[in-house]
Amino acid sequence: MATQYDAVIVGAGFGGLGAAIQLNRLGYDNLLILEREDDLGGTWHVNRYPGLAVDIPSSTYSYSFEPNPYWSRLFAPGAELKRYAEHVAEKYGLRGSIRFGTVVTGATWNENESHWQVAIQGGNRVTATYLLTATGFLSQPKTPDIDGIDSFRGKIIHTTAWDDDYDLTGQRAAIIGTGATAVQLIPEVAKVVSELTVYQRTPIWVSPKPDYRIPKALQRLFATLPPVQQAVRQIGNSILELMMISGVVHYKELRIANRIAERWCRAHLFRQVRDPELRRELTPDYSFGCKRPTFSNDYFPTFIQPHVHLETSSIERIDEHGVVTVDGNRTEIDVLLLATGFNLWDVNFPAIEIIGRDGKDLGKWWRDNRFQAYEGVTVPGFPNLLSLNSPYSYSGLSYFTTIECQMKHMDRLFTAMRRRGAHVFEVTQEANDQFLDRMTEKVGNSVFSLGQCATANSYYFNQHGEATLLRPTSTINAHREAARFPLEDYTYA
Ligand code: NAP
Repeated sequence: MATQYDAVIVGAGFGGLGAAIQLNRLGYDNLLILEREDDLGGTWHVNRYPGLAVDIPSSTYSYSFEPNPYWSRLFAPGAELKRYAEHVAEKYGLRGSIRFGTVVTGATWNENESHWQVAIQGGNRVTATYLLTATGFLSQPKTPDIDGIDSFRGKIIHTTAWDDDYDLTGQRAAIIGTGATAVQLIPEVAKVVSELTVYQRTPIWVSPKPDYRIPKALQRLFATLPPVQQAVRQIGNSILELMMISGVVHYKELRIANRIAERWCRAHLFRQVRDPELRRELTPDYSFGCKRPTFSNDYFPTFIQPHVHLETSSIERIDEHGVVTVDGNRTEIDVLLLATGFNLWDVNFPAIEIIGRDGKDLGKWWRDNRFQAYEGVTVPGFPNLLSLNSPYSYSGLSYFTTIECQMKHMDRLFTAMRRRGAHVFEVTQEANDQFLDRMTEKVGNSVFSLGQCATANSYYFNQHGEATLLRPTSTINAHREAARFPLEDYTYA
């Protein structure tokens, strides 16, 4: 079977688009990007719930090589991110390479042909020399398995499948979940519904959000003098880096920084909520950084409104018209909003079946052994595979750090491979093992091991209780290693 494409990329979110841009730069232009949704943008296409906005400053949450001077706010609304993704795809000529509405079911390495065979639901297989999976971390929505939920007669909406035609005005609503999504959604829903009950299982650390409008004059300055915006980006990067390093990675040495972050969030809550009982209920009992903290100025004040109720008793069941908690409290509702997040570790590592050399099944191997990937991108036994959403691949607090580190890694790897006249790469077992040992040791010094994370219910931890999602190093280290990893960590053929 002839090889049809230089590369198949699974996913047309920012990760997939970045990978395609890098492959183009390296001279590979026969690309196919397969996307299950009907348009590009990944998270920023799928999520449309009220209040959706980025919670990392926009100058930082974007490609460094493609700054957008026209963000309307320091934390841009979600629709602007979606438009930015469209702009990037147009400018870099990627739209023509994307096949929408295409669900990839699996991929198998063909040793004889030295290519990947990619299976598509209801369609023919395609083949490519390289396979890049950019399927995201937060792409498989989690619907809670609550007793009786199917019997509910009202409307149920998950935040990733927002129904724009459903009018919440005057309705009695319930929201399950108090993660970063709910923190954005709750204040907006409270503005229009008649009653709102929020079911909280685990409180979230919330910091004040310096969410300013960016005046047109400043936008014009960013457009005419890009270094000014680059300086703003650097400031944003540095603050995030400081939070990540001091609050999370170097917890062992800098426990005080973590305490300061907690105090900062507690003071925010204290300023906004005077009722001590409500404050107690909204205060996490786990260390800052065990799960993703968020930023908001209007989340806590929402709970002071008379028609908004915080329910901290566990949900026992849902019946035809309401939610019943274990203490017997029943609340009648018209609409149930699920801000219940995503399933990562059962279905997303990897998001599709990947069969490498000698029938090695990536998902099974990760589960039978430990979750691992060299520099968060490559795995022994899987030649010519870049698994962009792997264990330890998420670096820093902005996803664009991860994307750009991986673009650097691709640059060094493909350049080295071609200099040798090769077209097949594979990471060595030894390099992979050393990387895993190093990450394991570093996690041992982080808040994930030394903090109080037991009650956090954090998706940073896998089903074995190991924190294998975030790379436990500085982003400076991640960038440096992406640009300088030893070339002998790979074999080339
Ligand atoms: P999440 O952080 O996983 O939160 C899900 C919430 O639903 C949690 O409070 C969880 O409680 C609750 N929940 C789940 N199943 C439940 C059940 N059966 N019963 C009761 N409660 C249940 O998901 P998310 O809020 O969608 O956020 C996911 C990630 O998306 C964030 O961490 C962030 O990385 C990203 N995000 C980013 C932005 C942005 O602006 N850039 C905005 C939104 C989200 P437990 O904690 O007890 O499990």
